[in-house]
Amino acid sequence: MKPFSIYNTLTRKVEEFVPRHGRIVTYYSCGPTVYLPQHLGNLRAYVFVDTLKRALRFNGYDVRHVMNITDVGHLTSDADAGEDKIEKTARAEGKSPLAVAKYYTDQFKRDCARLRIELPPDEESITGAVRPPASILCRATNHIADMIGLIERIVRNGLGYVTASGVYFDVEKWRGPSGMGRLSRQSLTEQHAGQRLEHSADKRSPHDFALWVLNQPHHLMQWDSPWGRGYPGWHIECSAMAMRYLGETIDIHSGGLDHIPVHHENEIAQSEGATGQPFVRYFVHNAFLVGMEGAKISKSAGRFPVLDDLVAAAIDPLAFRLLCFGAKYRSELAFNLDAVRAAAKNLGYLQEFTRSLPESAIGADDAAWAAEYRERFHDALNNDLNTPVALAVMLELVAEANRRQDPRVWHTLNDFDQVVNLGLAHELRASREEATDARLQGLLEQREAARQARDYQRSDDLRREIEALGWEIKDTKEGPRITRRRGTP
Ligand code: AMP
Ligand code: ZN
Repeated sequence: MKPFSIYNTLTRKVEEFVPRHGRIVTYYSCGPTVYLPQHLGNLRAYVFVDTLKRALRFNGYDVRHVMNITDVGHLTSDADAGEDKIEKTARAEGKSPLAVAKYYTDQFKRDCARLRIELPPDEESITGAVRPPASILCRATNHIADMIGLIERIVRNGLGYVTASGVYFDVEKWRGPSGMGRLSRQSLTEQHAGQRLEHSADKRSPHDFALWVLNQPHHLMQWDSPWGRGYPGWHIECSAMAMRYLGETIDIHSGGLDHIPVHHENEIAQSEGATGQPFVRYFVHNAFLVGMEGAKISKSAGRFPVLDDLVAAAIDPLAFRLLCFGAKYRSELAFNLDAVRAAAKNLGYLQEFTRSLPESAIGADDAAWAAEYRERFHDALNNDLNTPVALAVMLELVAEANRRQDPRVWHTLNDFDQVVNLGLAHELRASREEATDARLQGLLEQREAARQARDYQRSDDLRREIEALGWEIKDTKEGPRITRRRGTP
């Protein structure tokens, strides 16, 4: 078995990944805040999540994946300042927060589907489950009780305190294995640089962060709690949902680089402050997608590229998926239309090859020479998810098959595609169906001609050929009508 290695932000090293429980991996990834469309930078983060999950599966792991949907509590600053992002949009659009969250959640799911990103099953589609499901896409607003329970533990441990404006985490008191800053390796002042800190008069330190917010009557979403009506801070949702479904110590937690200094530091502190157990074993972070002149693509920047922009430019969304593969997840990736068009060429090359595969190559074992490519692909994945190399190997495999005029590589290519996930098996099926349709059409026309010429022998022979393709034929007054034969796919 090949070891799988990944860069752990906690240790700043590429480490061999060993899950806690055999072949089971518990994985929590920070999901979207649903108040605006997801921009291509966000989608890069989710392509990364999907790729990591698929690479782990390629290595035989059973991945239990939890992703949250932030539909309350994320303020316009990552620290406790500004308005709730969902409510801000709700006011601007004259909708309820629930309607805003639903609209952008649906849009997020649609974009993920177009990028062939597999999301965990939506909690709203899971009914009657007795035990918590292994994988789930879950909303903050459906887990308020879990958050309250966690905050109670923190307060009981003396790490949270209650004031008129909320319940806060006391960062000075929390020492943990090395206090705040274990992940970011920054002082509190450095972690909060550029953030507008809420100097709430009743906070012990400006660095303390809200677990529960009180006395904000203008806030639309409010719940009862032991401390009074209010709403949760942003960070607590991730700890509460991760623990609810995956346990107190999880194997992998991911998010974008921007989450390291505030969101993930706070998640560690409050989780470990509640349980006394290590929260995350491997923290992994994706780098940014940047626009022109290297500027980070962000929602606060105003105009940002979205997937619909590519569709409008007649570019297959999967070209964006392939563009993401062309860069290491830890490297910045520059976005521009030329780069996506170059990726679209590679996509076309792989699709074209798949469509042209002869039946003999699909039925047969792969050529012996393809085995070396599988090794190289696997090595690249296991080397800190080196997708540019893995993708190059995939393209080389096809180039070599063309050069040798030996197309017996389908099984290898299809296995690679379980990770790259361009839907090549679907492409193959579609091309076969088109070929069958064309053949069926030809046979029907020939049979009609035979009938007109009263050549019933030939007409019957053609009927049998049509039936062999899986179709039943009935001659009616309006002409021949065909239906699928029972038992055929
Ligand atoms: P948000 O919806 O703002 O909470 O962000 C969702 C995810 O996208 C988080 O994991 C962010 O770290 C990530 N993210 C935000 N902007 C970018 C970007 N330009 N490139 C890559 N990832 C990003
Ligand atoms: Zn999170």
